[in-house]
Amino acid sequence: MSIKPSQATTPVVATSAITEIADGVWVVPDSDHTPMVPNIGIVVGAHATLVIDTGFGPDNARAVLEQARRLSDRRPIFVTHTHCHPEHGYGANVVAGEVTIVYNDAQWSELQEKGPVILRMFRKQMPALAPLLDGVEFIRPRLLYTGSLNLDLGGGQTVEFREFGGAHSLGDQGILVRGSTSVLFTGDLVEEGTFGVLGDSDSHTDPWIDRLKRFEQLDPDLVVPGHGHLGGPERIADYRAYLELARRRVNEFRAAGELSEAEIVDRVGAEILDLHPDWQNQIWARKAVEDLTWPARA
Ligand SMILES: [Zn+2]
Repeated sequence: MSIKPSQATTPVVATSAITEIADGVWVVPDSDHTPMVPNIGIVVGAHATLVIDTGFGPDNARAVLEQARRLSDRRPIFVTHTHCHPEHGYGANVVAGEVTIVYNDAQWSELQEKGPVILRMFRKQMPALAPLLDGVEFIRPRLLYTGSLNLDLGGGQTVEFREFGGAHSLGDQGILVRGSTSVLFTGDLVEEGTFGVLGDSDSHTDPWIDRLKRFEQLDPDLVVPGHGHLGGPERIADYRAYLELARRRVNEFRAAGELSEAEIVDRVGAEILDLHPDWQNQIWARKAVEDLTWPARA
């Protein structure tokens, strides 16, 4: 999630670019780093289909469902969202009668608490995009889980939902597809070409590093980040590297005892930006460092 008040590109998911990245695993890609457009997954099994994220607003949700139907024949369709941010699923309520929505409990609590607030904020700060959010409602998912949930889609296509919350959002999920190729959908815990967003007091750098290590332990063949280009496990390692560098440099400066906490944030924030001058969401480079300083930790 990131707000760009002057956003010029309408965040329409590019269904014409849908690609099969592994047997029965399709992605509607965010190939142009378009703000507010996520990578969307459609996992097709012999008995059922799972949609992972539905985009920003009801029109995108309908377009994604149409693709899922096209690939699924008449099989039942499950829908989940990687987390509670608008571009990943606000508007899926318009297709809820035709699918089974799956969330973890923390994610549903978080959506009930923050969804209406985030919706107001986006409408106010992105007036050009506000009409895309008409009709958004937050409705109770039909299937809730705590910890993890396995879903057998049939034909050797099983999907594991796991909670990874407390890093980018409280209800972050990782969704691992265990088919002929293992594919991990990371939500915004991994992005490519974009600094990670620490959007509120439930977002933290230290746990984020931990969650990325746990992602690596799942040993996926392919990684689908929340935004940006798909890749292999190096997508996770690259992301962990920038957050770990921030933590290591903060600790080094603090041990040296020459700079104030504020000066450390300035220095390390600048170092991180220098390493990735072409990444989007630049304000969040500094936020990740700020979160590592004492007042924020306390
Ligand atoms: Zn997000």
